[in-house]
Parts: sequence; structure tokens; C-alpha cells
Amino acid sequence: MATKQRKIPAPDANPETKPFWDAAAEGKLLIKTCRACGQTHYYPRALCPFCLSDQTEWTVAKGTGTIYSYSVMRRAEVPYAIAYVTLDEGPSMMTNLVQCDFDTLKIGQRVKIAFTPTEGGPPVPTFTTA
Ligand SMILES: [Zn+2]
Repeated sequence: MATKQRKIPAPDANPETKPFWDAAAEGKLLIKTCRACGQTHYYPRALCPFCLSDQTEWTVAKGTGTIYSYSVMRRAEVPYAIAYVTLDEGPSMMTNLVQCDFDTLKIGQRVKIAFTPTEGGPPVPTFTTA
């Protein structure tokens, strides 16, 4: 296992996303559910991206999903994998895959949340193989 850690800058928290980062600090992944149309979405927005309702509420996601697509950046100083992960709740999120063997990744593979620390900010949601 590589000992080199890729440095991740602190995320930019604003009033709209503060609950998300507060939950991340506690190891919880939040998404939003729309009370008007029932759809869940990510990244969290004040207005539902499906019906534009402002009746959205924070929901704790299970933190499990599948790899929809991924790409391994092998030429970086510390190689890393970016991916779209489809959460079991429905929304897809762009993220990084961490603490796993990049050579054995597969589309459709099961993954689970593994928050990664940042420099001086809350951890960011990343995923590892389940
Ligand atoms: Zn909606």
C-alpha cells in the first residue's frame, strides 16, 4: 500500500453547504431529498434540480454505491483515481477512489464511503472498494 498521501485542499464551505461539511466531519454523507417530487440529488442544492422546488431536505445517505465510471491518473506524482459513483439512493457523485488497488477496479464494482482528510478543513467524501 502506498504511503504517500495526496494532499487535498480544504473544501470551500458556504452557508448552503455548511450542513454537508459539518456532517462530513462526523463521517456522514448527506444528500438532499425533494419533498415535492421525491427525488434525491447530489451535490446538495437549495432548489431541487428536477422540479425547482425549494422543499428540499437533508438526508443521510448509506454511503454505499457502485462505480459508474473511473479514470486512474498514473502520471501524477501520487497516482489517484477519479470516478463517478452512483449511490444506492440514486444520485451520482464525482469523487476519488482511495485505499484500493487501482489495477483491479471495475465498472459496476461496489464501493463504500471513506472520507479523506483535507488540509485544515472538513474531510471530503471519497470511496473505497467494499
Ligand atoms: Zn423536486
